[in-house]
Amino acid sequence: MVKPNENYGKLKESYLFAGIAKKTKQYLEEHPDKHLYRMGIGDVSLPLCQAVIDALHEGVKDQAVKESFHGYMPECGEMFLREAICRHYATRGVTLEDDEVFVSSGAKDDLADILDMFDVSNKILVTEPAYPAYVDANIMDGREILHLNSGIDDGFLPVPSEDTKGDIIYICSPNNPTGATYDREKLKVWVDFANKNESIIFFDAAYEAFIEEEGIPHSIYEIEGAETCAVEICSLSKTAGFTGTRLGYTIVPKKLNRGGVNLNKMWVRNRTTKTNGVSYILQKGAAAVFTPEGQKQIYENIAVYKNNAKVLMKAFDELDIWYCGGKNAPYIWIKCPNNMGSWEFFDYLLNEIQVVGTPGEGFGACGEGYFRFSTFGSPEDTVEAAKRMVELLR
Ligand code: PLP
Repeated sequence: MVKPNENYGKLKESYLFAGIAKKTKQYLEEHPDKHLYRMGIGDVSLPLCQAVIDALHEGVKDQAVKESFHGYMPECGEMFLREAICRHYATRGVTLEDDEVFVSSGAKDDLADILDMFDVSNKILVTEPAYPAYVDANIMDGREILHLNSGIDDGFLPVPSEDTKGDIIYICSPNNPTGATYDREKLKVWVDFANKNESIIFFDAAYEAFIEEEGIPHSIYEIEGAETCAVEICSLSKTAGFTGTRLGYTIVPKKLNRGGVNLNKMWVRNRTTKTNGVSYILQKGAAAVFTPEGQKQIYENIAVYKNNAKVLMKAFDELDIWYCGGKNAPYIWIKCPNNMGSWEFFDYLLNEIQVVGTPGEGFGACGEGYFRFSTFGSPEDTVEAAKRMVELLR
C-alpha cells in the first residue's frame, strides 16, 4: 500500500495570501463600486522588454526550420546563456566558469530542488522574516528548522552569534519581505561563519537588480571566501519581468565541497538525471537580457518600480513611520503605526482607504506588527495609495 509523505501534514496552512484574497473578495462584494489599491503583490506589472520579445520571436523562428531547430537542450543550460551570465558576473568583479552556472526554470524551482543534495539530518537556519518557501520546502523533506529572528535593532539584517547553529543557511538580500540589504561587512560575517562551521549558505539574489547604492554586493561571490561555502540562486523574474515566462540560474562553485563530495559535480549528476533543461526559446529570450540593449531596457522598467518606491518612502517619511527597504529593493517594510497588529492594520487600510498590503506575520513570527508594501503596482495606484495613507495616518 502506498504511504504518502507524512511531512506534508506538518505544513501550516498558508493563511497569508489566502487570507488576503478572502478579505479583499469579501470587501469588493460588499462595496462593488470601490477600486482597490493593490500594494501587496509580489508580481511584476510591466511586460517583457522589446529586446527579449525580439529574441523570443527569433527562437520561435529557429524552431520552425530544420537547420536551426533544437531538440533536447543541455540539462544544465545552453552555453550561450551560461557564458552571458558569466560575463554579467564579471562586470561585478566576480569570475565564474561557465560550468558553475546552471540554468533553471526559476528560483523557486531550484530553491526546492537543490535540497536533494543534502541529507534530511541537516539543520536549516532561516533568517526571518523570510520568503515562506524556504521553510515549507524543508518541512516537506522532514528537516529541522531553526529560526533566526531579526528586528528594528539589527535593521532586519541578522548576523550569527557565538551560539548560532545551522548547517544550511538561507540568506536573501535584498530581502523579501523587508527590502533590507546586506553590506559587505555583514555578509563577510556570514561567509566566515559558514566556512568555519562547514555550513552552506543558500544566497537568494532574486532582487539584486534593484540595488542602487554603490558598494552593496549584488552577489555573495563579491565576498572573499564565498566560493567555498555558498550556492547562489537568482532569477530573471523580478530583474526582467520573467515571472510568467520562467527563467532562473543557480551558481554552484567548483570549489564547494562538503563531506568529501564536490557539490558542483553532484549538481551536474542531479540535473542530468532529473531535468531535460529549459526550452531553447526561453534561453534565447533570457540571453537578450544580458545584451547592452536588454540591460538598458530592463532598467527602464525597474526605474518605474523604483519611482513607486520613492513615492511610498516619501509618504512614510512625512508620517514619521519607521521603515526599511525601498532604496535597494522593490519592497518597503513598515512598523505598523500605533502599535497595531499586522492584520489589524491590514483591515484598517482596506476598510478606510481601500489600500491592500501584506501583513508581516505571514513571513515569520517576528514579522508581527509589521507590514509589507510592494512597489510593483501601477504608478497611478501607488501615488493615490500614498496620498490616502498620508491623509488617514497623519
Ligand atoms: N526568491 C524570492 C526571495 C522571491 O521573492 C521569489 C518570488 O517572489 C522567488 C525567489 C521566486 O522566483 P522565481 O519566480 O524565479 O521562481
